Amino acid sequence: MPTAKRIILLGATGSIGSNTLEIIQRFPQDFQLVGISADKNSQALAEIAKTFQVSSIALSNESAYQEAIQTKQFSEQSKIYSGDQALHQLIEATEADMLVVAIVGAQALSPTLKAIEKGLDIALANKELLVLGGSFVTQAIKENNVRLLPIDSEHNAIFQCLHGNNKKDLKSIILTASGGGCRDTPIDQLQDITPQEAKQHPNWSMGAKITIDSATMANKGLELIEARWLFNLEPHQLKVTLHPESIVHSFVQWIDGSVLAQLSPPSMTFSIQHCLFYPEKRESPKPSIDFDQCFSLNFAPPDPKRYPCLELAYQALKQEPYGGAIYNAANEIAVQRFIAEEIRFTDIPKIIEYALNHIQIPKTLSLDSLLQIDQATRDYALQLDPKKL
Ligand code: NAD
Ligand code: MG
Repeated sequence: MPTAKRIILLGATGSIGSNTLEIIQRFPQDFQLVGISADKNSQALAEIAKTFQVSSIALSNESAYQEAIQTKQFSEQSKIYSGDQALHQLIEATEADMLVVAIVGAQALSPTLKAIEKGLDIALANKELLVLGGSFVTQAIKENNVRLLPIDSEHNAIFQCLHGNNKKDLKSIILTASGGGCRDTPIDQLQDITPQEAKQHPNWSMGAKITIDSATMANKGLELIEARWLFNLEPHQLKVTLHPESIVHSFVQWIDGSVLAQLSPPSMTFSIQHCLFYPEKRESPKPSIDFDQCFSLNFAPPDPKRYPCLELAYQALKQEPYGGAIYNAANEIAVQRFIAEEIRFTDIPKIIEYALNHIQIPKTLSLDSLLQIDQATRDYALQLDPKKL
């Protein structure tokens, strides 16, 4: 009998995290959860540790950690890491075969590089880390001969469509975009969208940051940059189409005019299961598309006035190797400030644009300079006065 794949799951309490746990629980012979992490939600993490009998745990937030220890939330056998280095230490100390990166934000970069160095395959949901450090991650993947499997539904679709074909015959890839929660709001009313409204998504159930990113299409911008790194493509090969049903997850167009697509219902469990079992397949517990029913699929080019973040992603691609880092950091801060009601929904693209046009970039590329640009952009985006945007 084959041995179970040992999995470390970063971001176990989040939306991708819980979908991943659902699959691990369904296939106990195939997977063993050996490490888990969360930022603050210690009770949910302790519950997961108990259910899956995991003793290697990272709780990044220090005060959540102190409280969890005082109230004895975790079993005495558990090894619990906390603070800035918690994820790094968890990966260093835990023997595993695969890392599932389901935390949000750029802090995923350093622990993921550590896991690659240790020879773990990476199932990647987090998109910020490729946008920030794509050149370093893809280089490390090659050097250590491990797999980088995309969970993000669009990239998973492209990964599946490319399989068995010759990449030199590829003309372009077309990412589908649902248009997010404000796709029908009149453009002149977008400035009044509240964080609560932007956190609603018509098709997908996801974390707050990515749901707001869907409404601005910064999410698709991040995905364009992510695709550039995952599939080594030029900006002119990267396209987006609006597809409100979220059934086609992306297209691949070949030089002979043929187009391939991957379809499944809008649930992340399909792409997560694909990555966890890759290169094998297993029966999904969820129903697939029902072709006994009538349904239609619609596609349209996105309106640049409604979604300025999309055009800014192409600008970021032109500003390589730092454009992605600036785009991502400015967007992360802008979204935080929007949630805190310091800026309007329509200020998010303005902050990204200001940052892309104003951040000074060094001449050489190193991991340190990349992290410095990330921090400089955050500082810049935090102090921008919305009245002057
Ligand atoms: P989420 O907000 O639901 O969960 C985030 C997880 O990360 C939680 O477990 C949280 O505790 C942890 N976390 C947050 N801040 C942290 C920090 N500073 N340090 C350590 N851990 C931290 O997010 P999500 O929707 O599951 O998304 C996770 C990632 O996957 C994001 O990068 C997102 O863009 C990407 N993604 C999500 C979906 C989706 O359907 N939810 C689809 C594609 C890609
Ligand atoms: Mg996606």
